[in-house]
Amino acid sequence: MSAYDVDPGVAAAVRGFTLPEKLGFGLVNAPVMYSATWREGAWSRGQLLPYGPIELWPGSRALQYAELVFEGLKAYRVGQERPSFFRPEENCRRMARSAARMSMPVVSEPLFFEGIEAVTRTCSDFIPRQSGRSLYLRPFLCGTENSYLLKNSSTFRFMVIANPVEAYAAGALKVTIERTDVRAAAGGIGEAKAAANYAASLRASTAAVNRGCTVALWLDAAHHRDVQELSGMNVFVVIDGELHTPALDGTILPGVTRDSLLQLARSLGYATHERRIAIDEIIDGIRSGACTEVFACGTAAIVSPIESLWESDGRHHSPPNVDVVAKRLRESLLAIQERRAPDPFGWTRDLSIA
Ligand SMILES: *Cc1c(COP(=O)(O)O)cnc(C)c1O
Repeated sequence: MSAYDVDPGVAAAVRGFTLPEKLGFGLVNAPVMYSATWREGAWSRGQLLPYGPIELWPGSRALQYAELVFEGLKAYRVGQERPSFFRPEENCRRMARSAARMSMPVVSEPLFFEGIEAVTRTCSDFIPRQSGRSLYLRPFLCGTENSYLLKNSSTFRFMVIANPVEAYAAGALKVTIERTDVRAAAGGIGEAKAAANYAASLRASTAAVNRGCTVALWLDAAHHRDVQELSGMNVFVVIDGELHTPALDGTILPGVTRDSLLQLARSLGYATHERRIAIDEIIDGIRSGACTEVFACGTAAIVSPIESLWESDGRHHSPPNVDVVAKRLRESLLAIQERRAPDPFGWTRDLSIA
């Protein structure tokens, strides 16, 4: 007996699903989803459902006030029968911190794991076996109360949806230096994985894409001077052969990949620094030759080289190296994630047997 209910439609949804050759990132939906609801201070029994539209009041706070936090993690099945997750406890803890910042109820570790494991177990046969591919899991928590009151909802929904994916955005990124819009300010919700942060970033991201770039690089809200991160990835800079990344100051999303790369890089012999990094230091460093490489990291793409940083007037700055240190780190991390290399950090975790 499982701890959650399985909708009668699930078996047919799974049987009717075939994994296409081209997966992209988020183009293909896994055939099932998990859902639990919060009412009167307690979580309901979870449900596994066929993937499909959900009912939500048009006046729900998730829609009207962006009362929504989410997570992103991957299940891997390269060279092994049983899928494994990469540092899923970190995603669970971060979701709890995001929920606390938004004063939403915490999804307990057992509930979080029930959700990601129910979906992963049901989709095991569709988890791609080729290196670089995986099942991307997207847990989220949203407020479902139907009213405009300026307070948190009293009802919530926790869901897990998933997508079989290829490695995201293969190739080097061109980023625009965003000098006008602000993604996150001190005291705001920048360190929560909240949908509203993406809302704040979409204008700049869309403008970047329209200019032939990939995404915007955010600067601090007070002075438009210090680098924060990209809209959905953290940033690293190689200066004099050492790794530098902006310190977590409350405005930056604490990426699991960022943390993993810091630990991995140290184990590979790189000095690492978490500190304030001015955009001018990077630009001057590229000119002087001190800054040799810039790259981004996150669950989706793991590590993406950045080939150029663009100003709004078309000037741009290109570090001499593209994908040198980044490639070494990406390959080392992916080998651990796919369990092709030993995991001295204890980061990977088997899907538990039902
Ligand atoms: C999710 C996310 C990241 C990357 O975090 P990972 O845990 O490494 O996937 C970076 N920045 C933002 C804004 C994010 O939402």
